[in-house]
Amino acid sequence: MKIILLGAPGAGKGTQAEVISERLQIPTISTGNIIREALKTGTEMGLKAKSFMDAGQLVPDDVVIGIIKERLAKDDCQNGFILDGFPRTIPQAEALDNMGVVIDKVIDIEVKDETIINRMSGRRVCEKCGASYHLEHKKPSVDGVCDKCAGTLVQRKDDHPDTVKARLEVYHKETEPLKDYYSKQGKLAIVEGQSEIEETTSLILAAIEA
Ligand code: AMP
Repeated sequence: MKIILLGAPGAGKGTQAEVISERLQIPTISTGNIIREALKTGTEMGLKAKSFMDAGQLVPDDVVIGIIKERLAKDDCQNGFILDGFPRTIPQAEALDNMGVVIDKVIDIEVKDETIINRMSGRRVCEKCGASYHLEHKKPSVDGVCDKCAGTLVQRKDDHPDTVKARLEVYHKETEPLKDYYSKQGKLAIVEGQSEIEETTSLILAAIEA
């Protein structure tokens, strides 16, 4: 299964990708996580992406398309994958099509902007493995510590309210048109994001199996 998770930043794509990845035994590919990793290790790509990311803007298409090409060529992608955070623009979707990658399903998780702004202020991520938590909805067993790798949980710079507003604007302008793009290909399923993570997961799994 080759799946794309669409949705605004903070709609819960990362959390859902982790769960579905485990259920279907296919890897999640998150361009955001790959870029953050590159930033941590100080690669040229990471440094190039930093200013865009910190401002809540999109990293240029050629950079992320390069990242995806390299990642999809790896062996673990042979049986399928979940794309979380890619594509985010029409040229990125076209690049994927041009690579000959045939996507089975595109799941769009819909959540209202005001809900997202509230949610993002409570989001915390593991600085070591990137797993995501929430102060109210998905608490770690021990405050501030990752359940998976015992890394420290931090708030991402781009989860601050002003940056979140900028990211939502970018989402509506650049990413939302992808709904139409994939609807025309007959691949789009829309799922209303629920307040309970498990409920959204059930809706997504049902949409994947439909
Ligand atoms: P995410 O963790 O998916 O919310 O991504 C965090 C940030 O990484 C975004 O706000 C962008 O600056 C950058 N980024 C991640 N994926 C992409 C993409 N497909 N296209 C452009 N920028 C991206």
